[in-house]
Amino acid sequence: MRFLSVFLLALFVAPLHAQKGPPVPDYPVDRVAEGVYVIHGPLTTPNPENQGFMNNPAFVMTSAGVVIVDPGGSLQSGEMVLRQLKKLTDRPVVAVFNSHIHGDHWLGNQAVRAAFPKATIYAHPKMIEMAKDGAGDDWVALLDRSAPGAADGTVPEIPDAAVDNGQVIRVGDVDFAIHHFGTMHTPTDLLISIRGGKILFTGDNLLNGRLGRSSDGHIGKMIEASDALVEKLDPEVVIPGHGRTGDRAMYDYAMEPFRIIYRVVKEQYENDVSDFEMKPVVVEALKEYRSWEEFDNLVGKIVNQAYLEIEEADF
Ligand SMILES: [Zn+2]
Repeated sequence: MRFLSVFLLALFVAPLHAQKGPPVPDYPVDRVAEGVYVIHGPLTTPNPENQGFMNNPAFVMTSAGVVIVDPGGSLQSGEMVLRQLKKLTDRPVVAVFNSHIHGDHWLGNQAVRAAFPKATIYAHPKMIEMAKDGAGDDWVALLDRSAPGAADGTVPEIPDAAVDNGQVIRVGDVDFAIHHFGTMHTPTDLLISIRGGKILFTGDNLLNGRLGRSSDGHIGKMIEASDALVEKLDPEVVIPGHGRTGDRAMYDYAMEPFRIIYRVVKEQYENDVSDFEMKPVVVEALKEYRSWEEFDNLVGKIVNQAYLEIEEADF
């Protein structure tokens, strides 16, 4: 009898337990400007250790409440982000911006929606379209493979408000200026500036301390459009998609590996060197960045993509 009840209990408890992964531990909140805070996530890709949390969720305090940019990559990441916010303020979250379609930036929407049902979640229309087509589910499946169990219970919460280039979203006393220049890191990117351009959120168009996957985007356009925007705004605080927040000098330093790759590949292409032979030359030119996270994993792929883009532009 006792055995049977334990068995029955297990029947009920086990599926419930399997529905939700463990909490993500608290990560410190860094104040990067007056009323602006960033939780700098790990630089690694999803793995059991980071439990799928790896981006830079940010808080902007406004007179109407809190705005979150990119609330994390899982239900558990979003819950951690809200726990940390609670230590700063009791004010409600009134809006969320999702910088692009990659799930490490927006699957935390679910936790925000649960806690603040009235918050507006903004994203580029292409991002909303791709999310509706299942891009969030693909990311949940990726988490399931790379950090098994960690993100269990995560269900993509699709943004409900489309925003595009040139729009300014006023939340309380803060204007959020929206920038979108077609395909850069992805076709869905929002770059967001506040305080007249002095503070810039780049999404994954800028990563500090690691190389980024570029296969959903266009490297040449990412460099060109990002550089043009930074030139125009002259930001004092730049918040990258991954890695430490910095100033304009950090921006230049962190964009440089992509500029180097493009420049070297272009020179080699013009000299009729094949993409296979280019890689060692590029790696040599990038020696200052060799310790960056994901370098060995991605440098060949980025060289190859740059080659294809340059070749395509040549025809
Ligand atoms: Zn991304």
